[in-house]
Amino acid sequence: MIQITMPLNFLGTVYREIRQALIDMAQMFGLLSQPAEVRDRPDAKPLHVPHGVVEFRNVTFGYEPERPILKGISLTVPAGGTLALVGPSGAGKSTVGRLLFRFYDVQGGSVRIDGQDIRDVTQDSLHAQIGVVPQDTVLFNDTIRYNIAYGRPDADITQIEDAARAARIHDFIVSLPQGYDTQVGERGLKLSGGEKQRVGIARTLLKDPPILLLDEATSALDTETEQDIQTALRRLGAGRTTLVIAHRLSTIADADEIAVLEDGRIVERGSHAALLARQGRYAALWYRQDAEEAA
Ligand code: ATP
Repeated sequence: MIQITMPLNFLGTVYREIRQALIDMAQMFGLLSQPAEVRDRPDAKPLHVPHGVVEFRNVTFGYEPERPILKGISLTVPAGGTLALVGPSGAGKSTVGRLLFRFYDVQGGSVRIDGQDIRDVTQDSLHAQIGVVPQDTVLFNDTIRYNIAYGRPDADITQIEDAARAARIHDFIVSLPQGYDTQVGERGLKLSGGEKQRVGIARTLLKDPPILLLDEATSALDTETEQDIQTALRRLGAGRTTLVIAHRLSTIADADEIAVLEDGRIVERGSHAALLARQGRYAALWYRQDAEEAA
């Protein structure tokens, strides 16, 4: 990660945005080193996103040639809609997110945004159109204001406060003696996981991308925090095409579509109600998790 970020430190706004997105992605997917090189084609064009339709067409992919991870995945997230990917640990859910961000290139099929193959567009333009909300937002050693405005240094305080309100973190911030000027990060105030996630949501609201990639928390937060975060995420997701990588099921019941990934294939898809009624793989995952959470 340091390899990716250090040389970009001094560059302008665009690079700050890309750097933030890369940090969020690295954080989200636990990538510690730079993956296999993905380069812009010489004739790469900027991505245009008039609608925000995200499509995986028969995608195959493996990190190592002898071990396929995705074995022919087709998915469409309609413009402004939400698709949640669920499935057992190791099924390949996070891999789908990595491919959308083009951390790796697919080996078969294609990933398209509004019809454009993402291998044909510049990575800068791709990363600028996708907001990533990881479970654990990276905070810089600076003020809360700076951390929210990161990637949008031109934002004024009213815009920053509006984003913080929508992300349900404003009241907490103004309760601190130094408010938006409070120093956070390693050397400042340590924020809880839920607070950091809301700072990340506020940051993404300011970035205002048409497409979102959300990594739902693996561990349960207390009910109040969880409700706050769900409210904030719903506001963030309104009108944006959203792909949710769901490690728990309780938070995605209202997604437009849920796809169950198992051993690199989509084995079921439909709404929460339809999938429960089907009494298949999703229902089994749901009841198992319900029992685990109750225990
Ligand atoms: P979880 O819910 O536990 O996060 P997941 O469904 O998101 O799991 P992925 O992270 O997509 O699963 O991983 C799918 C498979 O790919 C796993 O078997 C994992 O070990 C493997 N894998 C992930 N990243 C790499 C990598 N960089 N190199 C090699 N194999 C990898």
